[in-house]
Amino acid sequence: MVDIIVATRNKAKIAEFAAMWPRKDVKLYSPIDFPDLPRVEEDGGTFRENAIKKATTIAAASGKLAIADDSGLEVDELGGQPGVLSARFSGEGATDRANNEKLLSLMKGLPPEMRRARFICAMALADPGGLIDVVEGRCEGVIADRERGTNGFGYDPVFIMQGYQKAFAELGPETKNRISHRARAIEKAVLALEKHLGTRQK
Ligand code: IMP
Repeated sequence: MVDIIVATRNKAKIAEFAAMWPRKDVKLYSPIDFPDLPRVEEDGGTFRENAIKKATTIAAASGKLAIADDSGLEVDELGGQPGVLSARFSGEGATDRANNEKLLSLMKGLPPEMRRARFICAMALADPGGLIDVVEGRCEGVIADRERGTNGFGYDPVFIMQGYQKAFAELGPETKNRISHRARAIEKAVLALEKHLGTRQK
């Protein structure tokens, strides 16, 4: 059994990780299971920088493997905002509802071709010796004109993926977890882990 700390305190992200992680010989923990671990400030300018900082800090402090996801939404019409500030778009300690309301008001009345956006997930894998690999998953879509659905978290009610008619929050966890930016990043992170461990899943 391999222990890995998923370096996030976001319970919705931890739940998605647990639902999507394909290897049964890996036990996933979160920093919530290890109260003495430091809180990592997400002060990088990119998703990659933040993911690397979270994974390497938690791996070094815990002596275990760590995997970190830094993710968010980029809206073309807003010059890539909210980007790395996705969680704090409407201010420090912002709620998902407040972030979505701010986004919808900025996008109000814009036609579909001006509503292009993407979710990006950078995922870093580290051990106590340092970074092992960093990978990325994306999904392209548009910003809806109102909040739709009640599943998921964050911007799920306002993001409609290319090729779909429904927002992530309407699709439900099974579909989202098959197609999301996080699902794509996890797929690559598992390959990086297998390479690192020198094993392949049977
Ligand atoms: P992080 O914890 O700094 O990576 O912040 C991620 C933020 O991006 C979250 O608080 C959400 O606002 C947004 N986000 C990331 N992934 C998703 C997702 O899968 N659905 C909806 N919002 C997401």
